[in-house]
Amino acid sequence: MNKRLSALVAACLVAIIVTIYFISRPSLVIDEGEVFPEELADEVYMEEPLFKFGIPVELFDIQEGRIKRNQTFADILLPYNVSRQDIFTMDKISKQVFSVRGFVPKRKYSIFYNTDSLDRKKAAYFIYEPNDIEYIVYQLTDSLGVFREERKVEIIERTMAGVITETLDHSIRSEGGSAALVSAMADVYGWQIEMKMLRKGDWFKLIYEDRMVNGQSVGIGNIIGAEFNHLKNSYMTYGYDEGNGIEFFDENGESVQKAFLRWPVEFSRISSRYNPSRYLKMYGRRQAHLGTDFAAGIGTPIKAASDGVIVARGFTKPNGNYVKIKHNGTYTTGYLHMSKFGKFKNGQRVRKGDIIGYVGNTGYTTGPHLCFRFWKNGRQVDFLKEKLPAEKPLSADQLLQFEVAMELTNKRLDDIPNTWADKTISASNE
Ligand SMILES: [Zn+2]
Repeated sequence: MNKRLSALVAACLVAIIVTIYFISRPSLVIDEGEVFPEELADEVYMEEPLFKFGIPVELFDIQEGRIKRNQTFADILLPYNVSRQDIFTMDKISKQVFSVRGFVPKRKYSIFYNTDSLDRKKAAYFIYEPNDIEYIVYQLTDSLGVFREERKVEIIERTMAGVITETLDHSIRSEGGSAALVSAMADVYGWQIEMKMLRKGDWFKLIYEDRMVNGQSVGIGNIIGAEFNHLKNSYMTYGYDEGNGIEFFDENGESVQKAFLRWPVEFSRISSRYNPSRYLKMYGRRQAHLGTDFAAGIGTPIKAASDGVIVARGFTKPNGNYVKIKHNGTYTTGYLHMSKFGKFKNGQRVRKGDIIGYVGNTGYTTGPHLCFRFWKNGRQVDFLKEKLPAEKPLSADQLLQFEVAMELTNKRLDDIPNTWADKTISASNE
């Protein structure tokens, strides 16, 4: 929206409201030079927000809704007397900013409209919200226009402390944390602590960033630092940015996360990607492909994508010879259709890059390839789209800066009260 115009309209509105106020209070007489009564100022500013999406709300009626399946821009706006010509033009010009064909079911929209003397609704603005932060304004009055706007995101640092009574999820949620915070903590600690094996009485403290829009949390930012006490051992983690985004380190400046090989088979090409609704010619029906296929010659070595323990090694009709590696509480990988296994047996520990088998075409295949499966928190996900931890130690001069930041974080972690510890003490005093 034109901000100068918005400000002007705002000023006019305030003037109108003030005028109406005085007109509607005949008993109030003001001498020249008298200071504005305090309660008047309050009343003006206690009004509902004058603007929504930068548009003065007093001037319009607003219809809010959510996009329905297969609903088009025309479906929504023809009843609001937007002409077919304008809809056609908007379809063209919106492509530069956010195409009206890109609406996704269930996302929010708002229509700002007026009603004329013949009871006809006429839309002035259509607003589409692709996410919690952005919104697109489609201007339908005067000249047509499309504007992409962003709400201001405020980052607020928060602290939390909790004790494990059931699961990490339960503890973080009962302290008011979100599912996103649970998974961030599980990601950070997944390599050090088996999250499914937490004990009652394990406890944690953490400092994290909350992303807020209009006073509502829209997600979490980075984890600044955390202490996780598991079986009476404290595991410290510090988020630190060397310039490529936040990564996590322990008190010695060593990465707490292990990297994955992006290419578990050398000399290969990706022949089929993860696709939950793949059409299989072979079977003449749709069947999810929950892996990434790497085509390579029979006998090409297959490497463990990261450190872990072999939790399955065997044969099934669809998989052929396969190996499954559990890396930590979060990640597990699977390797299918092998011609033969490597030297590692079920239950054995492997390091990243160890050869666990060789490419083959056992099981249901149309040719030699590795079908690589990737589980995150027990669900198969697209390995190629997963943001995975990097693993490299801090350089010597980065380490100095890191230690300064760590000291500060340690102090702040110490200052977080252990609410559960207080509860335990007062309980035992009774
Ligand atoms: Zn596959």
